Amino acid sequence: SDHSLAYPSTPDNMDWSGYYPEFVVRPQEEEDESQDEPENESVPLDKTAQQDTEDAEVITKNEIAVNPPRMRKQVEVADIGCGFGGLLVALAPVMPDKLLLGLEIRTQVTEYVQDRIRALRAKDPKGNTYQNISCLRANTMKFLPNFFRKWQLSKIFICFPDPHFKARKHKARIVSMTLNSEYAYVLRPGGVVYTITDVEALHEWIVGHFDAHPSFVRVTEEEQEADECVKVMRNETEEGKKVERHRGNKYVALFQRLKDPEW
Ligand code: SAM
Repeated sequence: SDHSLAYPSTPDNMDWSGYYPEFVVRPQEEEDESQDEPENESVPLDKTAQQDTEDAEVITKNEIAVNPPRMRKQVEVADIGCGFGGLLVALAPVMPDKLLLGLEIRTQVTEYVQDRIRALRAKDPKGNTYQNISCLRANTMKFLPNFFRKWQLSKIFICFPDPHFKARKHKARIVSMTLNSEYAYVLRPGGVVYTITDVEALHEWIVGHFDAHPSFVRVTEEEQEADECVKVMRNETEEGKKVERHRGNKYVALFQRLKDPEW
């Protein structure tokens, strides 16, 4: 249940160091940086200011870390309900300079993906590939803004989400007006939500909800088919492979995050 889910009170409190150890800022880099800083920026906080920042820190029961190590990069690509991690593994070499994160609610599946990535990292002779992917246990319907800042992400993948066929279960779908607003919050203008499903009615639901949302516009089919990530999404996800074996249909739709209107 959610009671055992760990999440940071704010994205600033999230400790990513264990997820992407190669991307932690090393002490030497910290030193180099502080030497570059102009003097007036390195004035230490006075006692009262320091006290204020400490007081401002909201610490939840499931707090992960209050002062996490600094990272050279932040997560830019999220795979919502990543399952067994096929998409992450296939996208790792496609986007070597970006950090990709799979979010998965099932504990054992999350652990499987973490083991899978650890093994791939260990097997890689140069030790660089697969350092940019990781998997975290989370309920994305609840805590997305705890992990990601406003406009942090450039891509969100929603691949073969659970269909929840019955009308009374529709509220469990991971596409809805409310959740689309959360995706719009963490996705930067110009960023893209990628969706794929083998259930036509769910595809229509997804398209209907993104079309109705003021922050998104559907990507044209031409642009969609030219996007390398779409090929990966169709062919490399575990569900995509299963649908292929059963010769089922795969319905794809991409939505671009629009700029917010001027006030
Ligand atoms: N995306 C993968 C693929 O295409 O192979 C897995 C698809 S599987 C049908 C849906 C996955 O979403 C499951 O692994 C499920 O545990 C996960 N899931 C469902 N609701 C979730 C939630 N609220 N937060 C995170 N993961 C969720």
